[in-house]
Amino acid sequence: MLQKIDHIGIAVKSIDAAVPYYENALGFKCEGVEEVAEQKVKTAFFNVGGVHIELLEPTSSDSPIAKFLEKNPHGGIHHVAFNSNAITDDLAKAESAGVVLLNKEPKIGAHAKKIAFLHPKSTFGVLTEICQDGE
Ligand code: ZN
Repeated sequence: MLQKIDHIGIAVKSIDAAVPYYENALGFKCEGVEEVAEQKVKTAFFNVGGVHIELLEPTSSDSPIAKFLEKNPHGGIHHVAFNSNAITDDLAKAESAGVVLLNKEPKIGAHAKKIAFLHPKSTFGVLTEICQDGE
């Protein structure tokens, strides 16, 4: 079952440039920066009352985040992620409800979470991630 909003993914050109905004203007503390090679991104996380902000910087020109930044040069909200306690079941439930899955099998994301994306054409325009904490 989906439990809560886990994080909101925000595409940025530069994590180094964006972190001071979140720390100095908004007063949140960066919990750490992690590169996720499989997704071709560098990530930075901020804990905002249990929901995280995940900044995403592309590490390669063929990263999905690089393509998003071509269309949205100032950056912007890239995806919303819901926490699941049974990701395989939740993906099957979404698929049987007619949702197109971008990942039929979960992949490994930041913090070793299992992650999978739902196609925005099935989700009213919001790229949607389902994630489950790694064991
Ligand atoms: Zn995410």
